[in-house]
Amino acid sequence: MREVNLYTVKIVYIVLSCIICLSVSAQQTERSCGTRHIPVNAEPIHETFSSLNRDNIEIPVVFHILYSNEDQDLSEELILSQIEVINRDYNQKDPLVKRLPGKFDKKVSTPGISFCLASVDPFGNSTDGIIRVNTSMNNIANADQQVNGERVIKSSELGGSSAWDHELYLNIWIGARNDDITGDATFPDDPEETETDGIVLDYNVVGFRPEVEGRFNLGRTLTHEIAHYLNVYHPYGAETGCFNDDDLVEDTPNQFGPYYGKCDEEVSSCGSQDMDTNFMNFRDDDCLFYFTEGQVDRMMQTLFSTRYKLISSQTCSDARPTPSDPLKFAPILTLTQGIEIPLDILSNQEYKLHLYDTAGRKVWQTDSNLEHRYSISNLGLGSNIYILILEIEDEAFSRKVFIN
Ligand SMILES: [Zn+2]
Repeated sequence: MREVNLYTVKIVYIVLSCIICLSVSAQQTERSCGTRHIPVNAEPIHETFSSLNRDNIEIPVVFHILYSNEDQDLSEELILSQIEVINRDYNQKDPLVKRLPGKFDKKVSTPGISFCLASVDPFGNSTDGIIRVNTSMNNIANADQQVNGERVIKSSELGGSSAWDHELYLNIWIGARNDDITGDATFPDDPEETETDGIVLDYNVVGFRPEVEGRFNLGRTLTHEIAHYLNVYHPYGAETGCFNDDDLVEDTPNQFGPYYGKCDEEVSSCGSQDMDTNFMNFRDDDCLFYFTEGQVDRMMQTLFSTRYKLISSQTCSDARPTPSDPLKFAPILTLTQGIEIPLDILSNQEYKLHLYDTAGRKVWQTDSNLEHRYSISNLGLGSNIYILILEIEDEAFSRKVFIN
């Protein structure tokens, strides 16, 4: 009986997929996200990251604009409006809760992440954070615009624009595309993504342009794609269907598949009401409003582990004070039995150390300690990569740790 049910689900999925494909190619107007759902860390997060200090989480962004005509060469004003949109969406104190079905009010959460145009380039020179490259290639942003498996838009050699250090900058490429995809992003922790890590957007969906008619004119495609970049999935997961753990977030209800277009009154699938206006759904820009606590936890876990260098790269503003990194003497730690962690702190500063595994589980912690060096004896942990987080006063610092 169970097999029959699964088979039925698959048939429905295939039929629905075809209907969706046809409607997209016929109208070319639905949102379509090209982000691949092949997460390396496909595990739910068990630890809440909300207790970590989230002040001053600021991500430097560099835009690579590939243009072949004046329309595609987006103005700085438009790019700044896009930065404003993501700053608003990731920091809204009252995320239009009135527009939400009542039962979801309490699940809404604010990431508290800010974004800026990078003001320092990888060579230490000042920059406006926008790179402009003229191209004669049509639809350079198409996902299949590749040479030997390398995506053209992301390679200066191939006529695109190569990424700035992906650990220190969020790279966003903008160009023309006609592959029915509004945007695509890479997930964190994919070892093959060092040169290609980042987000690609159709130039038509960039910026806040309420005066222009369109369904993706408010800049929310980037809001959605950045969440993928921070390890958040579509609410229905890797494929359509009613699966438990679909998006590995407990506070988003099971959802069969994406919702497109305008907001409806209330929609349900898989036996429960759905969050069709969650930023990770596919509604039009004016029908996407919020993230949930579980989604924000995934973002925080990413920013305090695999993407930790992003929030300490200090390329947002050269005027920004440079906090000393107390773990600077230990850029990559390898812990064996009884090793000491050198800490660059004042002798009377209290701190806490936490150790997380890559699935976000806290495996060890110690409370206040007043030593300059902290000795960790054999913790009985298996050989693996862990993330060490040092909390000191209002700041948190993290390093990858290899335990042998
Ligand atoms: Zn998506």
